[in-house]
Amino acid sequence: STPIVIDDLSVSPDHYIGGRRVPSASGFELHSPIDQRLLGRVAEGLDEHVEAAIVAAQQAFPAWSALTAAERKPVLDRFAEEIGQRADAFCRLESNDAGVLLSRMRHGVVPRAMLNISWFAQHALDLQNRPIETEQARHIVRHDPAGVVVIITPWNAPLMLSTWKLGPALAAGNTCILKPPEWAPLTCSLLADAGHAAGLPPGVFNVVQGTGAKTGAKLVGDARIARISFTGSVPTAKWIAQAAGANLLPCSLELGGKSPFIVLEDADLDNAAATGALMYRNAGQVCLAGTRFLVHANIAKQFVAAMRGHVDKLVVGDPREEATEVGPIVHPRQVERVHGFVQRAVAGGARLLWGGGPHPFGAQYFQPTMVTGLQQSDEIVQNEVFGPVLTLQTFGSDEEAIALANGTDYGLGGVCYGETAHATAVAERVRTGFIWVNSFGIRDLAAPFGGIKRSGIGREGGDWSFEFFCDVKDVVVPKK
Ligand code: ADP
Repeated sequence: STPIVIDDLSVSPDHYIGGRRVPSASGFELHSPIDQRLLGRVAEGLDEHVEAAIVAAQQAFPAWSALTAAERKPVLDRFAEEIGQRADAFCRLESNDAGVLLSRMRHGVVPRAMLNISWFAQHALDLQNRPIETEQARHIVRHDPAGVVVIITPWNAPLMLSTWKLGPALAAGNTCILKPPEWAPLTCSLLADAGHAAGLPPGVFNVVQGTGAKTGAKLVGDARIARISFTGSVPTAKWIAQAAGANLLPCSLELGGKSPFIVLEDADLDNAAATGALMYRNAGQVCLAGTRFLVHANIAKQFVAAMRGHVDKLVVGDPREEATEVGPIVHPRQVERVHGFVQRAVAGGARLLWGGGPHPFGAQYFQPTMVTGLQQSDEIVQNEVFGPVLTLQTFGSDEEAIALANGTDYGLGGVCYGETAHATAVAERVRTGFIWVNSFGIRDLAAPFGGIKRSGIGREGGDWSFEFFCDVKDVVVPKK
């Protein structure tokens, strides 16, 4: 089919199944969030494509799973290298279709995508090397590949999240079908080129493009699948969990957040305020951002003034420009949704500390916004906005801060600023999957990542990813 061309770049709009590009009779239009221009038409995954991908992945499984991790490692290292070779294209494609900052792609996402593949390839080497010795017996704890794995990722970080799942799934010996997000499918298509050039055997890694409701739903409802790894929204996760439940398939669900950003009375306010302004990164379309500011009443005024100083300097604009710090919102529908949250909050009596509406830079840009004067039960406090819109509430004691922090259905992450021992003690009582003390965004591939309550089921990272993608088996050999 007609390639998608962006300046001098060209990327396939087709599926990638069994090592070949496969077009579709049906397609959907893709527009750029930067300026709404039509980027092209992307293949829509019909039943026949889902079927072909499952069969290809099944056929590739015996040979790929029979390799040792040491034998898979050089192929996966080449995969990481091939991603690096295409760094410039990955950056520009995701900037154009998802609106992610080009600078962030270059310095953060592409190096991390490479690491997502090569790190897990390395760490798969000791998967089979975990015996348990007792007086009675030797337990050989095997981590066998589970089979055909379906990976479904969202538009806010397609390259990062797809490789974050693909890395451990492939390194453990599974074969994969990736269903990219329909609003930002281009870097996943290029990922297929990188895998192909690296010599991944046909069928080991397949990409089926298409919408969630049609292509995604078909994939997750198939009983031949061994695992479903999903990152996305809560409503979609509920559908996927039901489909998985019908076949008793394990699914890993990494969902949204409404993470608290706690500023204690003894916090370093300048540092806290500078970090606070980072919550507008990716136009707030970041699941792990601390979006619910909980600030001690005695320092709230000073904190707001300090944060405002940073926010006023934020450069909103074209994500392809080096100086830009806040880019566009991915889709017109999402702009409306974000604006609706703010309008309803203000109509209900909330106040704006800054921002509040569309940004003059363009149709899909929104002002960095802070809403205050809120009740804990307010819609904008309880729901993930997924845009550059933060809320601010005050508290008078640690107990109150913790109660507010824990007072939503979400439980993904958090940030807590204060004197280190104090902030650590408060952080330990916040019910989330992770929380940063006097910092934000420090991640390690070996550390667990994921949420509790509505923020998800399961953990990704290091051993947790491998456990999910493997069948763990105890082979018991008695000593006499
Ligand atoms: P977001 O709002 O973050 O895009 P979604 O949950 O809507 O979150 O989408 C995340 C991913 O899930 C996308 O790739 C989307 O196509 C896919 N998806 C949406 N609905 C379904 C479904 N019913 N079954 C499987 N995948 C789906």
